[in-house]
Amino acid sequence: MTELLQNYFAGRWQSGSGTGTTLTDPILGTELVRVDATGLDLAAGFHFAREQGGAALRALTYRQRADMLGKALKVMQANRDAYYDIATANSGTVKNDTAVDVDGGLFTLGTYAKMGETLGDRHTLLDGEPARLGKDPLFQSQHLLSPTRGIALFINAFNFPAWGLWEKAAPALLSGVPVIVKPATATAWLTHRMVKDVIDAGVFPPGALSIVCGSAYGLMDQLHPFDVVSFTGSAETAAIIRSHPAVTRRSVRVNIEADSVNSALLLPGHASGSETFDLFVKEVTREMTVKSGQKCTAIRRIFVPEALYSDVAQALSARLSKTVVGNPRNETVRMGAVVNATQMKAVREGLAYLRQQTEVLHDGASHALVDADPLIACCVGPTLLGTGSADQSDNADRVHDTEVFGPVATLIPYRSPSNDLSHALSLIRRGQGSLVCSLYGSEPLALAKAALELADSHGRVHVISPDVGALHTGHGNVMPQSLHGGPGRAGGGEELGGLRALNFYHRRSAIQASTAVLGQLAGATT
Ligand code: NAP
Repeated sequence: MTELLQNYFAGRWQSGSGTGTTLTDPILGTELVRVDATGLDLAAGFHFAREQGGAALRALTYRQRADMLGKALKVMQANRDAYYDIATANSGTVKNDTAVDVDGGLFTLGTYAKMGETLGDRHTLLDGEPARLGKDPLFQSQHLLSPTRGIALFINAFNFPAWGLWEKAAPALLSGVPVIVKPATATAWLTHRMVKDVIDAGVFPPGALSIVCGSAYGLMDQLHPFDVVSFTGSAETAAIIRSHPAVTRRSVRVNIEADSVNSALLLPGHASGSETFDLFVKEVTREMTVKSGQKCTAIRRIFVPEALYSDVAQALSARLSKTVVGNPRNETVRMGAVVNATQMKAVREGLAYLRQQTEVLHDGASHALVDADPLIACCVGPTLLGTGSADQSDNADRVHDTEVFGPVATLIPYRSPSNDLSHALSLIRRGQGSLVCSLYGSEPLALAKAALELADSHGRVHVISPDVGALHTGHGNVMPQSLHGGPGRAGGGEELGGLRALNFYHRRSAIQASTAVLGQLAGATT
């Protein structure tokens, strides 16, 4: 039998009492490790984290906690090769795709270590200036942000086992809030290894960081009013989390990052061969194929002026056809597997569903697998669909509603009389709120206007003109300095965005007092 990974809970390594769930290699089909959380004393583990971990973290200042994050980063940098090996085996990703997860996670951690230092040696944050409450300035109100005296439970998705841990844990730990992470079972091994490395190195105080691998059963029941839960995953599971009594009755604060039908828009006036057209085609291709399309931020809908539909279809198909699919251990391979057979089936079903309202412009089935057995490997070639006409873009409701979590996107032509964007904007909004939309154009005013139009329905608008063509950070790359999350079907959550991320882990209160008392607050927070 394969190794059974232990859980780090209540300050010690503990095995579940069941036989566990086996994690597999999506290319070779081999068994890797097992995870199990059966029989853990959940109440004791949550209590330990809340009491011991919370007290120890809150005793430190922001600067000291930032220093701790920096130490965790160093420990993991020394073990980076092991993370790459685990990702190859368990996620079936090529090195560039592993980097998005592993190096993206480490970069995010390092960024919070640096930002945290600027908060200095204090334990509480002042929020704004004192405000007069009456005519007399003697009695005023000062808002404060204090770390919540609870734990942060993270229930994470399978596609980012490394980044998904640190983009949440860095702001939580910096805030002084202990973390209990429950990674998605399919790829829990990488999260587990990172947690093990920093625990073994003694970076964090006991109870500050715990990991439960296996079923989420019972975890939500343990949440108390001052705890928070941050969930990333499907809309279906999000609905279960939101309706749990911990949230509905005990007011546990919840952040949801769910699925999203993101888009990219080519503004009118950028014909084939223009710099903007080329930048657009290159980025859309990259987005479709990075991590085999298993990115919550990936471009699913590609909006182009109707007159350019055929040109863009040809340009994208030409690039996609060069994507070598197969075993990530082969250096020529550019796109590896989806995470497992269940996901492969879901991608195929989603594709078949969309195909009923679209035409196939590039067929993923045309990609022969390299170094991989098609009967075993969970590989899916990149597929480009198209609605064919602007009228059909209106009628094809499925492309606006369906997230196929794989290398699949749909080309959607829009009407643009006199360069008017209203048809494109209304089609984009049919995504019901997304994580990110990319705009490609060359005129700053037109781009700025479109960005303003789309800002309310997106967590991030990524605007690309030729002057930043070589500088930009990528449509799907989530940068710690920028907000991650989106309204509506994207879950309504907010993560990252620099130090704004700390708000989720702090409670805001107003202290109403004399100016003399308020004057002492700044000093008393250190
Ligand atoms: P999922 O099936 O919803 O699972 C997400 C997590 O929830 C896993 O850890 C899962 O544990 C756990 N879970 C399952 N049932 C639960 C329950 N009843 N109560 C509490 N937790 C439960 O999602 P997924 O398939 O891993 O992830 C893919 C989805 O995530 C996609 O739709 C993608 O768009 C979305 N995503 C969004 C973002 C974002 O930031 N917006 C980022 C990445 C992914 P088990 O694994 O043990 O079942």
